[in-house]
Amino acid sequence: MAHRAMIIGAGGVASVAVAKCCQNSEVFGEIMIASRTKAKCDALKERFQPTTKTVISTAAVNADNVPELVALIKEYKPEIVMNIALPYQDLHIMDACLECKVDYLDTANYEPEDTAKFEYSWQWAYRERFEKAGITAVLGCGFDPGVTGVFSAYAQKHEFDEINYIDILDCNGGDHGYPFATNFNPEINIREVSAKGSYIEDGKWVETEPMEIKRVYNFKGVGKKDMYLLHHEELESLALNIKGIKRIRFFMTFGQSYLTHLKCLEDVGMTSIEPIMFEGKEIVPLQFLKAVLPDPASLGPRTKGKTNIGCIFQGKKDGKPKNYYLYNICDHQECYKEVGSQAISYTTGVPAMIGAAMVLTGKWKKPGVFNVEEFDPDHFMENLNKWGLPWEENRDPVLVD
Ligand code: NDP
Repeated sequence: MAHRAMIIGAGGVASVAVAKCCQNSEVFGEIMIASRTKAKCDALKERFQPTTKTVISTAAVNADNVPELVALIKEYKPEIVMNIALPYQDLHIMDACLECKVDYLDTANYEPEDTAKFEYSWQWAYRERFEKAGITAVLGCGFDPGVTGVFSAYAQKHEFDEINYIDILDCNGGDHGYPFATNFNPEINIREVSAKGSYIEDGKWVETEPMEIKRVYNFKGVGKKDMYLLHHEELESLALNIKGIKRIRFFMTFGQSYLTHLKCLEDVGMTSIEPIMFEGKEIVPLQFLKAVLPDPASLGPRTKGKTNIGCIFQGKKDGKPKNYYLYNICDHQECYKEVGSQAISYTTGVPAMIGAAMVLTGKWKKPGVFNVEEFDPDHFMENLNKWGLPWEENRDPVLVD
């Protein structure tokens, strides 16, 4: 049966989610693309409507204005709202979903605009209200967080009695040819990578200086890359939801040019989120920087190479130690050929579509607020293969020390 979904946002990730919903018109019979700049929604409609049976509508909405969003949801009557705007909008969109009793899904956890701090507490606080309203919220359904949680649930269900260590490795071997650009929203990306690093060991957060811990890993499909330990949101939920975790870490690859530029921008104050006065107007340096950097949505045609993102699990099966690596390799140019976007948007937009389809078809439908690893992973794993993110496994992986 075909369903009706509302997609909020019309940026890099949302364009892929729209493309994928349009490929899956059996589930997504009708979609509305609603975002701050309506022209971007209309451009997506123009691009994808001729390719699909899915009926596409568009609207302008400021998702931070809850009454405005509620009015739009009540008018369009979607069964799910897919929040693919920015983390700042999460709570407002959840409020609107509660008021309209509509299911909710996002790809990044809430972050207040004035503090670079991201954690689940704000969204987990909605659990009881979502339960009472009988609606589902799926949190963090991109790749990381998202597929990394599904991989963890799958490993727990099929491969281990107990998982003790998880290392999430996010490698982008793509080259866009610019000296400096970010692969998704620059403001969110820079806030994430300039923050202190952290990981969880024996139930406690251990904090590091930004980029303090470096390792080199040889990624299949990409080759040897430097990777750095970062704080990442799924560490918090996985440490709670996966049995027996002793340590969980997240590493992301960065090239030297990216790091040198970032250091320089930081040193001159361009990555600051403290407002300053400029020619009589208050501006936030990081937001100004975003305005002069290449739009991530424009990197598609230029980016060549592959991403390799996955999880290395160490634990026990039938009393014996066991290691297991689940990962996906995605090619930037293949993504561009298929949907007109680079692989970072692709690897986030595809899981968002799959997660929404899981809710719409009743497989992931239960009242409350959930991280993806709290659902059965099997159907999602099949869908990753079907919709363009096939996974591979390695039962004898090189471990990260
Ligand atoms: P973009 O900046 O490209 O797009 C964001 C979109 O949201 C824009 O269309 C923007 O509108 C719209 N928007 C912003 N504020 C509002 C508002 N108040 N009301 C309505 N619309 C609004 O970002 P990306 O596509 O790169 O990223 C989207 C999300 O995906 C982010 O939350 C990001 O953190 C997340 N992400 C998750 C990943 C994962 O693996 N889980 C990986 C990568 C990204 P306008 O066009 O007017 O600016």
